Amino acid sequence: MKTAQEWKEWYSMPEFREKNTYQGNDLGVCCAEDKTTFLLWSPCATNVTLHLYREGEGGSAYQKLPMQREDGGVWAYRTEEEMHGVYYEYELLIDGETVYSADPYAKACGVNGKRSMAVNLKRTNPKGWEQDKSPAYAQENVIYELHVKEFSWDERGGFPEEYRGKYKAFLCENTTLDRDGVHKTGCGYLRELGVTHIQLMPTYDYGSVDEAGDETEFNWGYDPVNYNVPEGSYATDARKGEVRIREMKEMVQSLHRQGLRVIMDVVYNHTYSLDSWLQRTAPWYYYRTWEDGRVSDGSACGNDVASERPMCAKYILDSVLYWAEEYHIDGFRFDLMGLLDVELMNRIQRELDMRYGRGEKLLYGEPWAAVGSAVEHGTKTALKENVHLLDARIGIFCDNTRNAVKGSVFDVDKVGFVNGAKGLEKAILDSVQAWCGPDGFGAKAPSQILTYVSAHDNQTLWDKIVDTVPDERIWMRVNRMAAAVYMTCQGNLFLLSGEEFARTKGGMDNSYNAPIAINRLDWGRTWENRTLVEYYRGLIALRKKLPGLCDKSEDAWKRVHGTWVKEQAVGFLLDNTQHCEDRKKHADTAWEELCVVYNARPEELVVQVPEGDWQVLVDAQNSFWWDTSLEHSKKVVMVSGKVHVEAVSVLVLGRRRGSAEQ
Ligand code: CA
Repeated sequence: MKTAQEWKEWYSMPEFREKNTYQGNDLGVCCAEDKTTFLLWSPCATNVTLHLYREGEGGSAYQKLPMQREDGGVWAYRTEEEMHGVYYEYELLIDGETVYSADPYAKACGVNGKRSMAVNLKRTNPKGWEQDKSPAYAQENVIYELHVKEFSWDERGGFPEEYRGKYKAFLCENTTLDRDGVHKTGCGYLRELGVTHIQLMPTYDYGSVDEAGDETEFNWGYDPVNYNVPEGSYATDARKGEVRIREMKEMVQSLHRQGLRVIMDVVYNHTYSLDSWLQRTAPWYYYRTWEDGRVSDGSACGNDVASERPMCAKYILDSVLYWAEEYHIDGFRFDLMGLLDVELMNRIQRELDMRYGRGEKLLYGEPWAAVGSAVEHGTKTALKENVHLLDARIGIFCDNTRNAVKGSVFDVDKVGFVNGAKGLEKAILDSVQAWCGPDGFGAKAPSQILTYVSAHDNQTLWDKIVDTVPDERIWMRVNRMAAAVYMTCQGNLFLLSGEEFARTKGGMDNSYNAPIAINRLDWGRTWENRTLVEYYRGLIALRKKLPGLCDKSEDAWKRVHGTWVKEQAVGFLLDNTQHCEDRKKHADTAWEELCVVYNARPEELVVQVPEGDWQVLVDAQNSFWWDTSLEHSKKVVMVSGKVHVEAVSVLVLGRRRGSAEQ
């Protein structure tokens, strides 16, 4: 077999590109009532045979059909039969060697994804799927990161036994803690919390969990096998190819019905193994290598996908468009986006905007890589330093804000602003402006920023607090402060599921394959820590009423003014009036100006607020002061002049319209 370098030389020749670039959008299998078409892009093969099977694994082929070479490096087999439910694989002759491979474009597969399946997708649609519609956009994006299995595994969550850990759990709209009929868990709990988007950790078919194995097997799933097939271990039957498809659609449909948008976590930067379907059908086309032939490993997962190659870019784009169209997915979170090229990311955004309307589908990702990657000459990757090259609506996880608020994720002992660090006041003010001000790092607008303090990677916020704050009595206070700080920063809000109930993994900083007992959402904590949940709920609800913070425009940062810093304390004023863009989205705002104070000191701070009467909206304990319809905050609390801000807390004040003139 040719070496990686020899293959690459061939792929780089102009005549290769001319002859072997395919533009059609029909790669893979298209199966309808009156026809089935198998199309495989494999420019290197000199012969391809289609093998058909009755089973998703084992057994031998009942038919072997020669495929025809067509233009653009494509091999084809066409029939007028509907081959729905037929399993298949390809036998390829490449450089004199026989290779077997599943279909890189497979839309369905057998157990563990080893064999592909032809599927008439119409037959997988749940009832009412044609009417499925994403809920209208809320005033703010509040993204909640969730793992399918973690969500419903805990027995106390009250899910039906057979749905625990499955897509089906998302169809249960009224589960309660220990089935007590009172305290909501699951979807009902999420609706009440006020989040707008559910970001699901990998739900494409991944390789680290045996779909035929023990139900307790667990993995996050950052190890893609079939990019265009749902993961089988979340289905009630992983052996029947169409079941996982129908059940994932049912999940999306149910979440939409409940007012939640759905974002998929996509991992195009690397594959589970270098011995992937991509590699078997086009050796070394889809992977980066160094000059000396070493495999590039910027992902630290063994390989890097070469997104800058035309047919690889097409593969990724086709995959995103497929999920958006077939599964009604509302957005995509790109794992290690810093390994993919800027041009491709912008192209994906453009294509999605063209099909679904500007900004309808969210795109964002991690603007970093584990280490350097062997990108081809001149390619710019979607790293933080290149954020200015990305479309203004493509977002990045903002580690600057995360680290400023709670401290480094790599150095467990390192603290941030809320847990005792000094000297971070300026960074906190930059975070408030979503790093779009003059001292930012080049972000064009808050639309490019995901403001967050916890995600599946690294310690949970609670564990970080426990490890860095010696005085146990203030842990909750520190957590409330962290929440109130980032939720009063501009940008899109993002949180790890359970952050709001002090989720713990016992201090573990990488639980990707830890037992489900550590990873599962512990629904009992929603009750034990209900005051913290309530505090988050108030912050989220208030946030949606504040155009000054929701504003995603280029000039949003200019709304922040009157800033000051003292050691371990920060304050600012915020123009909260509606600008023309907001009018479409916001009901009349009650407060035209906000005054916000972050006091991270261990003692009370007295500050002089600008003239006028200020209404208390949020303080150290209560984030619902602003909502006078509630029993516990019925009376409007007004302050003026010298105001006391409790130790380790956030105070948010609002000046009502016209009150400055009084
Ligand atoms: Ca799998």
